[in-house]
Amino acid sequence: MHELGIVMQVIEQVDNVAAESKIEKVTKIIMEIGEVSSVIPNIFTDAFEWAKKKSNYLKDSELELIILKGITYCRDCKKTYDTVEYAKKCPYCGSMDTYLVTGNEIKIKSIEVV
Ligand SMILES: [Zn+2]
Repeated sequence: MHELGIVMQVIEQVDNVAAESKIEKVTKIIMEIGEVSSVIPNIFTDAFEWAKKKSNYLKDSELELIILKGITYCRDCKKTYDTVEYAKKCPYCGSMDTYLVTGNEIKIKSIEVV
């Protein structure tokens, strides 16, 4: 379960920001998770609920995940398409010369504090 490792990094990062900024408590963390990133949202949330108890800043906080859609771009026909449905092969021209535009994100968008 590598979600826990990512959660620990997120908590450490937010803890550091809170300590530096003399924040009393973090009430909410909003994160963006790409649809085709390696993170499974409900496992990530469970890991967060477990791990936050160890942090004084985060123990009463809430986690909100914004799921970003996976979008792939085709270099041959210059179109974009749904990554989850078609993966690496362009549904318009059949080309494999494609790359992921969005959907691989795992990042903290914002935090709400007291
Ligand atoms: Zn194409």
